Amino acid sequence: MSGKTYKIAVIPGDGIGQEVMPCGLKSLHAASARFNFNLAITTFDFASCDYYDKHGKMMPDDWVELLTPFDAIYFGAVGDPARHPDHITLWGSLLQMRRQFDQYVNLRPCRLVKGVPSPLADPGEIDFWIVRENTEGEYSEIGGKIFEGTERETVIQETVMTRIGVDRILKYAFELAKTTRRKRLTSATKSNGIKITMPYWDDRFKLMSKSYPEVTTEQFHIDILTAHFVAKPSHFDVVVGSNLHGDILSDLGPAVTGTIGIAPSGNIHPEAKFPSLFEPVHGSAPDIMGKGIANPVGMIWAGQMMLLHLGEKQAAEAMMKAIDRVLGEADQSVLTPDMKGKGTTQKLGDAIAEAIASV
Ligand code: ATP
Ligand code: MG
Repeated sequence: MSGKTYKIAVIPGDGIGQEVMPCGLKSLHAASARFNFNLAITTFDFASCDYYDKHGKMMPDDWVELLTPFDAIYFGAVGDPARHPDHITLWGSLLQMRRQFDQYVNLRPCRLVKGVPSPLADPGEIDFWIVRENTEGEYSEIGGKIFEGTERETVIQETVMTRIGVDRILKYAFELAKTTRRKRLTSATKSNGIKITMPYWDDRFKLMSKSYPEVTTEQFHIDILTAHFVAKPSHFDVVVGSNLHGDILSDLGPAVTGTIGIAPSGNIHPEAKFPSLFEPVHGSAPDIMGKGIANPVGMIWAGQMMLLHLGEKQAAEAMMKAIDRVLGEADQSVLTPDMKGKGTTQKLGDAIAEAIASV
């Protein structure tokens, strides 16, 4: 009910990104109409294979100047390996934005929603957050090859952890854990195998825990942690991991809660000096593109995270309730095929947008 106007850059991208984006926007417009805030939307055609075919690059040269003034970026999906390899499409767009706008938090809620079938026989109540470090760690470009092409060929790649980088992601995770019902924070580590960077991560985690006495902490090695994600996912509350560990967990998390089609993701720059980017977890899914059956919930839920980030709490709550209600009713004619239904992208998207007006 703020009356504020938010400048949103909309980038539908490739494949089903273009199909689910209209549903996301419809829900956001329903929320803005009901809760009295405005969305000033500008749509961009870059960060797509079509743009690359026309211009020989993924984004215009002035993309930083273009996007910096926005309050947030709402992103569909990018890439189609049958047209151009990921190292061109993904690296040339999404990863550039993450880096340029210092979106060092990758935040993914994992919640088992009533009506969505989980692959686990007895999943219990699943409701946790994954906080992934998004800018450094194992995904560095430092390293190289020596003795190339010989028997002694050797490749080296360094992991980079900075005190600033580690502390800021841990702080974000502790702050988030403080707000949750169970106030539990789990750290993913591998300090029994990785002998320098991971013990450093553990030390910073332990040190910071002293400033958060209300948060219960624990740490697991990544191997056993992935097993626990499957065996007892209901245990978790907030889980924090380095770039690599967070990457692994943030695909596994949505998998145990049913379909990748409902999972959202925020690439967040918490200080709001630069825009944060919100997108569904799924990619462009060329295999179902053009069929009108892509699940739009991940896109809509990403919009919900964006409103929460912008401070529109009531509107975000209504969007979440609307998603829960429509999926919970489990009407086969509305749910998309990935949720064992017979519905379409548009039908499910419309049902949620309609529910936002009344929940
Ligand atoms: P990326 O590299 O961008 O993650 P990917 O090919 O690894 O792409 P997705 O594009 O997410 O992964 O597709 C993985 C599988 O999940 C595909 O079979 C796809 O059809 C399915 N899928 C992805 N998103 C949806 C969705 N919204 N609705 C239904 N099925 C989906
Ligand atoms: Mg993938």
